[in-house]
Amino acid sequence: MLNIVVLVKQVPNTTQVKIDPVTNNLVREGVPSIVNPYDMYAIEEALLLKEKFGGKVSILSMGPAQAKEVIKYAMAMGADDGILLSDRAFAGSDTLATSYTLSAALSKMGKADLVLCGKQAADGDTAQVPAELAEYLGMGCITYVSKICDIADGKITVERTLDFAEAKAEVSMPAVLTLNKGINEPRLPRLKDMVKAMYMSIQVLKSNDLTLDEKRISLSGSPTQVMKVFSPERKKSGYVLNGSSDEQVSALVGELIKREII
Ligand SMILES: Cc1cc2nc3c(=O)[nH]c(=O)nc-3n(C[C@H](O)[C@H](O)[C@H](O)COP(=O)(O)OP(=O)(O)OC[C@H]3O[C@@H](n4cnc5c(N)ncnc54)[C@H](O)[C@@H]3O)c2cc1C
Repeated sequence: MLNIVVLVKQVPNTTQVKIDPVTNNLVREGVPSIVNPYDMYAIEEALLLKEKFGGKVSILSMGPAQAKEVIKYAMAMGADDGILLSDRAFAGSDTLATSYTLSAALSKMGKADLVLCGKQAADGDTAQVPAELAEYLGMGCITYVSKICDIADGKITVERTLDFAEAKAEVSMPAVLTLNKGINEPRLPRLKDMVKAMYMSIQVLKSNDLTLDEKRISLSGSPTQVMKVFSPERKKSGYVLNGSSDEQVSALVGELIKREII
């Protein structure tokens, strides 16, 4: 029997992310949102482990009230229950404050054997939260997991795929794992399960429900300060050389001479 908690983040479903010019915070209200794509693999892996070893799959998400949608989607896939961490008091949290707040909720939820996360979030993109969380919880952490090989005698053995290497690793449970894209094929929830999930209740935790050091949450708990937010300068488009390769080479040499590069 395994008690698994999956960390699921709601992310904007658009590349046109807007930043509030006054607060430098992401504008989330009214922006179409989805389950962070990498977290879909974490939900699916948790369900596969539950089918193999038995146990329970819980979803934990921190975000605005609308983040309930991603928890409901995970429950439609088959998760047993879900908790939303949502409070204005958490606004402005960088990754350290986010990990601290999530760790307080996990401590309140009771003993988890495994905490599964996506490799990274599609919006913040730092991949920092899982390792920071593991540190707060005093758990081992393995990142970039591409296969869970075995769970036995309180240990979990995995394969990791990094940019230029593959590796095997083992950690004692409880542990935090971050999962790579492609580790499995996330199932599509059936319509009747989507409808059922719409009526399932989700526990919402606020700052008063947790044992927190106020100085470690929100902006005051965020060592990262956004100094400036700006859209990167659009690269001036180059031009394409046409004609035969000889014609292209002489055109290129001509351009390089004109620009006094050669
Ligand atoms: C100064 C500052 C202010 C910010 N203010 C805000 C703000 O007001 N509101 C806001 O939403 N963001 C805010 N952000 C962004 C926010 O800090 C990050 O998005 C958040 O800490 C997660 O980091 P990440 O997106 O890089 O996730 P990663 O570390 O890349 O995520 C890796 C994995 O961790 C888990 N995870 C990450 N975040 C969550 C979550 N929230 N819930 C559940 N699981 C999660 C998921 O499994 C995910 O796949 C702010 C950032 C900074 C620097």
